[in-house]
Amino acid sequence: MTTTTHAPASVPAAIHPAYDPTPSIPRLITELVQEDFWARYAQVRGDAPHFDADYLANRKRTALLLRAVIADIVALAAPGNTAAAADAASAANAVRSGDWRLQLPAEAARTWLRDQYLEWQHSEAPHPPNCPGGCRGSGLVMQAQIWQDDGVAVHAEPSDCLRGEEPDPHGPDCRCHGDGRRWNAERREYALCDIYTPNPAYEPPQPVASDDPWSTGPYRDERPF
Ligand SMILES: [Zn+2]
Ligand SMILES: [Zn+2]
Repeated sequence: MTTTTHAPASVPAAIHPAYDPTPSIPRLITELVQEDFWARYAQVRGDAPHFDADYLANRKRTALLLRAVIADIVALAAPGNTAAAADAASAANAVRSGDWRLQLPAEAARTWLRDQYLEWQHSEAPHPPNCPGGCRGSGLVMQAQIWQDDGVAVHAEPSDCLRGEEPDPHGPDCRCHGDGRRWNAERREYALCDIYTPNPAYEPPQPVASDDPWSTGPYRDERPF
């Protein structure tokens, strides 16, 4: 008996090596929003002609690049979704259009996009020189990694600039319990918790029995309305 399969001969890799590690989409959106803001701010003020032309051109191109990368990651996560793939290719070709380059077929445009993203990441100035994060364009800032038990930072390393925004908080189920720092009892110091890692075995606190009719559970410090 012959068994036939309708599965495609080769399934495309879920994530292109260019996205290793996969960029955080919330971070990409923050980057995109800021780049777009700086580009449009000059236009809205009406004095764009007085801005440095390279500054504005870089902001516009970076905004186009990041929006295409977001579309590409979404399309990679749903390999069967042809609409998402076409969207990603169009967005990649919009970057090429801004560069005065010829349009490419879908897959080639997306492959080109991934290389452009890597190039942007490793460029000398991925952020604007007036970045609110204080990186002066480098995309890197010194970030405390280790603190003494009294909270004094004792070690810092270059880290991704968050463009002046607070890092997203970790939940109480993270190995840092939501503090963003983990206690190392052996070394008697705190270390930065760099990646939110939810613990599947975490159990939220149980509701405390109470006569308070307004109390609905452990989250009673939240406003009911
Ligand atoms: Zn920055
Ligand atoms: Zn954490």
